[in-house]
Amino acid sequence: MTNPIIDARDVRKAYGDTRALDGVDLQVDSGTVLGLLGPNGAGKTTLVRVLATLLAPDSGSASVAGFDVRTQAQQVRQVIGLAGQYAAVDETLTGRENLTMVGRLYGLSKKDARAAAVGALDRLNLMDAADRPVRTYSGGMRRRLDLGASLVGRPKVLILDEPTTGLDPRTRIDMWHFMKDLVKEGTTVLLTTQYLDEADELADKIVVIDRGKVIAKGTANELKDQLGGDVLEVKVKHPGELQRAADLLRGVGSGKPQIVADEQRIRVAVGQVKGVDVLLAAVRTLDENGIVLDDLGIHKPSLDDVFLSLTGRDTRVAEPVGSDKPAGRRARAAK
Ligand code: ADP
Repeated sequence: MTNPIIDARDVRKAYGDTRALDGVDLQVDSGTVLGLLGPNGAGKTTLVRVLATLLAPDSGSASVAGFDVRTQAQQVRQVIGLAGQYAAVDETLTGRENLTMVGRLYGLSKKDARAAAVGALDRLNLMDAADRPVRTYSGGMRRRLDLGASLVGRPKVLILDEPTTGLDPRTRIDMWHFMKDLVKEGTTVLLTTQYLDEADELADKIVVIDRGKVIAKGTANELKDQLGGDVLEVKVKHPGELQRAADLLRGVGSGKPQIVADEQRIRVAVGQVKGVDVLLAAVRTLDENGIVLDDLGIHKPSLDDVFLSLTGRDTRVAEPVGSDKPAGRRARAAK
């Protein structure tokens, strides 16, 4: 990789005994989308805050567009836009007033700030609500306005921290289209998300972090390939039998059976074994041991499977993070 626009090297940050970032390396090529994934508490927000100059790392270095986040914070702030969980909008002002104010903060003239505000409102389908106070906006509208605020300064690099957490599916898809358009125009995006289908859809490359360390990186397909083939999925009828079924499935595929407790499912990476053989072996052993099944099948691995096998945790049980609405259960990735 030559000259990444975001370049973090061995970044460390501790809070007391907690190593929120424990030597993170991360590079993002100009004009691409990097998806930063990790379970709750992995260190995503801490890294975002370091890159956005809101938090100084204990050690290591990080630069954005060639500017050092520690010594050239002002310049970094001029080239980035930050949106997500920071909703810095004023409830009493209208959408238009909010964005115009942000433009002024970026040093635009009154006229240019107004024009930039209209541009952003228009792009985000907020023109109809432009002159209403923000307190009358729905959760989805606020999120779009927050994103709009990050665009007013025409950032080269957009840092989006869980931009769609808690949004309804329709608004999420709108946001995706919107992000894709920005990337087409040359904006680089660093996106943290707890929705793996979102990373699958948008990210050119994915970095998975856990406990402050990078544990995997690559394209979505490279990560899926690491699992080596299909995945067997078994749904048991009685939750009490979940663990016993998982124990029985040890050895039928290539991977360790993973339990998704809230769904009464077990997943096993099939590996190099023939799918049909795995299926037959699973049916035989579960049947012989009197485990009643609700469902059984083989599917291509999703990013969920990759994530589960890497971290031992399922994102779908992740707690909703700082949103106006509970995220609830995430939409399943299309298989
Ligand atoms: P993520 O965004 O991936 O959920 P965070 O970066 O928010 O993770 O947190 C990483 C770790 O650092 C967690 O263990 C979290 O509890 C801890 N942490 C984050 N911010 C603070 C803080 N201000 N004070 C103490 N601990 C913190």
